Amino acid sequence: MARFIFVTGGVVSSLGKGIASASIATLLQSRGFKVRIRKLDPYLNIDPGTMNPYQHGEVYVTEDGAETDLDLGHYERFTGINTKKSDNITTGRIYQNIITKERNGYYKGGTVQVIPHVTDEIKKFISSDLKKEDFVICEIGGTVGDIESLPFLEAIRQFSNEIKNNNCLFIHLTLVPYIKSAAELKTKPTQHSVKELRSIGIQPDMILCRSETLIPDDEKAKIALFCNVEKSNVFQSIDVKSIYEVPLKYSLECLDTKILNFFNISSKKKANLTFWKNFNKKLNKDNKKEVTISVVGKYTHLQDAYKSLTEALVHASVYNNTKLKINWIESSEIKNSKDLRFKLKNTDGILIPGGFGKRGVEGKILSINYARVKKIPFFGICFGMQISIIELCRNLLHLKNASSTEISRFTKNPVVCLLEEWEKDKKIIKGERFKIGGSMRLGSYPAKITKNTLLSKIYKGSELIHERHRHRYEVNIKYKEMLEKKGVIFSANSPDGRLPEAIEIRNHPWFVGVQFHPELKSRPFSPHNLFTSFIEAAIKNKKNK
Ligand code: GLN
Repeated sequence: MARFIFVTGGVVSSLGKGIASASIATLLQSRGFKVRIRKLDPYLNIDPGTMNPYQHGEVYVTEDGAETDLDLGHYERFTGINTKKSDNITTGRIYQNIITKERNGYYKGGTVQVIPHVTDEIKKFISSDLKKEDFVICEIGGTVGDIESLPFLEAIRQFSNEIKNNNCLFIHLTLVPYIKSAAELKTKPTQHSVKELRSIGIQPDMILCRSETLIPDDEKAKIALFCNVEKSNVFQSIDVKSIYEVPLKYSLECLDTKILNFFNISSKKKANLTFWKNFNKKLNKDNKKEVTISVVGKYTHLQDAYKSLTEALVHASVYNNTKLKINWIESSEIKNSKDLRFKLKNTDGILIPGGFGKRGVEGKILSINYARVKKIPFFGICFGMQISIIELCRNLLHLKNASSTEISRFTKNPVVCLLEEWEKDKKIIKGERFKIGGSMRLGSYPAKITKNTLLSKIYKGSELIHERHRHRYEVNIKYKEMLEKKGVIFSANSPDGRLPEAIEIRNHPWFVGVQFHPELKSRPFSPHNLFTSFIEAAIKNKKNK
């Protein structure tokens, strides 16, 4: 029977509950246990799919096509286990399920209420779709004290009461701030947060204290006393340079052993953390050469918006023994070619990530043109590939008004468009709108690689690959032949040949566009080949300068 670990957060948001949950899972996994991590999000959206990245950060897409919270990306990167649709739920989805049932007469005329109906639905989610896991770690989004979190906290309280053999553990992550002027660490916020949690009926079994500096023993004792936990169950969660150090820090605190002791599990197997130690050593080695990658995007002021992308670049740089410098360029701030040249002065590689909408598109087109003409390694991901098609059509095919119907609805040359726009040759009706939520090509799809291409080399000769998608628009295959004549290679296509999945160009050291999101599948222990190859090309470019 699975044991459940609930991770809650207190005092402030952004303390790293996701990384904490992923690290706990990593430690337990490295001791031979089967783990699963889930996220319960208190907001009212059905999923984060329609949310602005500035509000919510990256939308992480699972193999089975769910648009989920970015923490699921951390779970996958730390444990290597693919998450599923059934690993993320929101208040919106819970209510949607309940309201659908209510409309179908499921409640037989009863009054539908938060307790028990909403809490029952949450409890059902927690224990649904399990496959003999030893541990199920559930991260509760938000901060204790938020109105939205209450039904979730009530549900996990009930759950722990109902489950047999004391099989639930509550871990609370809080902040112990350091007040510079007083040169003191303060435990009061933690005391208050735990008080709040206890008022809901949850007594944390363990407390993880996030802090800038080491927490002395007497401060730990104070937290233990006021929060009603054993002192040995107050753990330090000190700030670290890289998220990949967190499992090592927790292991030093014997967090995994304490968790096993809590559940009365005796495990002789020690956590094998060799990989994590080596990875961190390589990451922190400072005699490495530096490679600069310019990421030209739309949400560059909030790096959470490009979480998986950043991590994939980190994994690939560590693999290539290089120090990574990311030069974030906000595409809408690119004024002209001269300004762009200045912004890209020391760049070794240019990357255009996924994105939506018109803003900043012209800046991206200029950047692609620069990379193509100056033979700088270029990597276009999803929107990045679509915009490179626009650049190629405008400048190689001289179709001056070539565009995507996402950017210019009635363009004469819709080189990127909705499938039905070119398939049925349907007239685009002015003002016609399509459903925004849940109307994209999502999740894992196969693609057939064209032989004798750079892509085929990168994928080590594989003929069929599977990558994750998240987009509405497709490259318009009507322009394929014209582009091929000008040296564009369609290096991967959907198995039926209708959808271009990747492109590259002849006579360029490294120019690749992919319709999918390879960053979602990069792991520290298996960096994605597209990223390692891109970084390798950027290093070569730097050497040749
Ligand atoms: N906006 C584009 C589309 O919907 C690309 C999406 C993306 O980059 N994820 O097709």
